[in-house]
Amino acid sequence: MTSASEIRNTAVVLAAGRGSRMKTGTPKQYLEIAGKPLYKYCLDTFEKSTLITDIVLVVPEEDVARFREELRKGFGESIKECKIRAVVPGGRERYNSVNNALQAIEWPCDYVFIHDGARPFIDEDSIRRLYEAVKECGACVAGMPSKDTVKITDENGIVAQTPDRSHVWIIQTPQVFERKLITDAYAAVTEHAEEYAARGIPITDDAMIVELSTDHPVKLIEASYSNIKVTTPEDLAIAEALASSHP
Ligand code: C5P
Repeated sequence: MTSASEIRNTAVVLAAGRGSRMKTGTPKQYLEIAGKPLYKYCLDTFEKSTLITDIVLVVPEEDVARFREELRKGFGESIKECKIRAVVPGGRERYNSVNNALQAIEWPCDYVFIHDGARPFIDEDSIRRLYEAVKECGACVAGMPSKDTVKITDENGIVAQTPDRSHVWIIQTPQVFERKLITDAYAAVTEHAEEYAARGIPITDDAMIVELSTDHPVKLIEASYSNIKVTTPEDLAIAEALASSHP
């Protein structure tokens, strides 16, 4: 069995989105929640985690030089022992950003934890549950059972289907994979991404990449209902409230 000191787990922190649904003009990852930029919450958690050994930070192309300079200077007060090994530019879509990050991993790495920088409240217990699961099954994804009934509509907004709620999950990140599995799957799918788009299959998470290109099962692991993605203006107030109880 691998001891904690031997594990090499890389966290990919995605902070290269434009945040257009936030409607503030500022990319949402830079908005402050309780006095701290949104993307720094999960960075701090991964920095403190006993399970994450290395981090790749993905930021907009125009900000890469600034982040590399900040990193060189110690990356501010909040990050004590910096695990960030690379700062890479994001791409047009989320999957392009992830692909750039995967290609930047040049160090030993057993498992990759791909995380939205817009999810500030990931916690160590969830990271541990994901790690225990990925060692068993090679591919797992954070999520929570849906509290709401979900309906699938047709193109006119008319209900076509009501899935059994007991099988409906809301999917979050981290999405965690054996390194070779996710790297190979990304290589296979990104080559054909335009074809998927033309067939009306937008690629919105990493599990989809594995689902589209392999038969490998992807296990869902409960994280927490606090692991929200800050996306629209009302999420900011929720995040401010949750920040007061986040360690
Ligand atoms: O757009 P969405 O809210 O799904 O983005 C999820 C995460 O992916 C965010 O943290 C965002 O910064 C990141 N992202 C990225 N590169 C993109 C698009 C989104 O790093 N091109």
